[in-house]
Amino acid sequence: MRALILSDIHANLEALEAVIADAQWRGGFDSIWCLGDIVGYGPDPSACIRRIQEFDLLAVAGNHDHAAIGLIDASDFNVAAKAAANWTGAQLNSEEHDFLAALPFVSIQDSFTLVHGSLRDPIVEYLLDRDSAVGTLALLDTTNCLVGHSHIPFLCCEVGGVPEFFDFPENIPIELTDSRQIINPGGVGQPRDRDPRPSYAVYDSS
Ligand code: ZN
Repeated sequence: MRALILSDIHANLEALEAVIADAQWRGGFDSIWCLGDIVGYGPDPSACIRRIQEFDLLAVAGNHDHAAIGLIDASDFNVAAKAAANWTGAQLNSEEHDFLAALPFVSIQDSFTLVHGSLRDPIVEYLLDRDSAVGTLALLDTTNCLVGHSHIPFLCCEVGGVPEFFDFPENIPIELTDSRQIINPGGVGQPRDRDPRPSYAVYDSS
């Protein structure tokens, strides 16, 4: 089984299509696991929702998904994000609205726990440092945790019981072991790692 792991699509249909095409060219996938923020910022929220729904899909909620449909207050968003949330909400039909509203905060599949931000605060906290990693590892019931939200790809592994952050290696498979780790596949629609390319990961169970 191969799962295409995506996060932070942010209504960027061109980036989503590029990632799907690239992953299909590199061996394909059976399912999409989406770590939230399908919408927000970009111009194609409905088309991005419909596109990922074409696949076997496991998805969790992001803060922008909830802001677009009014489940959280966007008043602490920056001006562009708040405007995008209001605009996005007006583009969605009732089925797309209900789809976003039904997304769980946390989902478990195989040895993975999927969450947008962190297990301590699923759609708010950015997992980017040792303190936030410790907080999530304390709540983690599976071996691996998949997060998004920061749009920064990384691996976080426990070294001597202490979480250490590493760059996500490009095009180099990582063998999964019994050691716990937190993985961020990076952002599809709005990279923030100073690399303009969309970023994603593929999990291969074999
Ligand atoms: Zn995001």
